[in-house]
Amino acid sequence: MNSYKLVSREYKEQDTIIEINSAGKPVFIGEGYCTIIAGPCAVESREAYIELACFLKSAGVHILRGGLFKPRTSPYSFKGLGEQGVSIMAEVRKITGLPVISEIMDIRDLDKLYDDIDILQIGSRNMQNFTLLEELGKIDKPVLLKRGLSATIEEWLLAAEYILNGGNSKIILCERGIRTFEPYTRNTVDIGAVPIIKNLSHLPIIVDPSHATGKWKMVAPVARAALAAGADGIMVEVHQDPDKALSDGKQSLTPQNFVTMYEQLTKIAGIAEKKMQY
Ligand code: PEP
Ligand code: MN
Repeated sequence: MNSYKLVSREYKEQDTIIEINSAGKPVFIGEGYCTIIAGPCAVESREAYIELACFLKSAGVHILRGGLFKPRTSPYSFKGLGEQGVSIMAEVRKITGLPVISEIMDIRDLDKLYDDIDILQIGSRNMQNFTLLEELGKIDKPVLLKRGLSATIEEWLLAAEYILNGGNSKIILCERGIRTFEPYTRNTVDIGAVPIIKNLSHLPIIVDPSHATGKWKMVAPVARAALAAGADGIMVEVHQDPDKALSDGKQSLTPQNFVTMYEQLTKIAGIAEKKMQY
């Protein structure tokens, strides 16, 4: 008997497919679909974000990411535009018609984010913030739950169980690498987690090859591997000028590199029998 219940395949055999239609055209995340989420690590300015978002839309992206409240290791690093950036993401959502995702670090920010952000992200460092999980369990909005820095698959599924147990079943799991003894990459990507989750749970799973590797040159190969292993999509960081990015420049793709990767992913999605949406 597993320690989790509601997230398990035994409890619900049918795959959970999440439909997001708050922005414009509906976007689906789950089995049978390939959903591409892209954008900068952090929203840095209105002009740059609008420009990048419009480019990403034309390149075929389905959901736009943008960090506003950034969990930074050092208190002296850029922590994001915070509340000030919410209206920028709202504007970009309106211009592009694409849903937007951003991280919620503190439940006190829920009111600021609720109306304008389509998917709330729980970052790796907060995967076991049980009060945050419980509160997001009470709302009717999709939640992307990243795997904790050193969380086992069972701990990750139990974190999702907290959200589901509160009544919110719109959960997307995101593998973003775990901490191991290997220092060459920022984290060690656990591709095996994808088929394991597909087997154990009905929830969608995507992979974040940016935080998983920390190196832009590894992003496309790991994204390809993720789709080939059965992931329902990927989330990647893109920046117009990665060398000048205020956070995570080393793992950010240039727009051109993103386009190259997208072409490759389209082919792999076809082989994996996953539909690229519009
Ligand atoms: C992010 O996606 O912006 C992020 C901070 O990732 P993680 O929580 O996986 O480190
Ligand atoms: Mn980042």
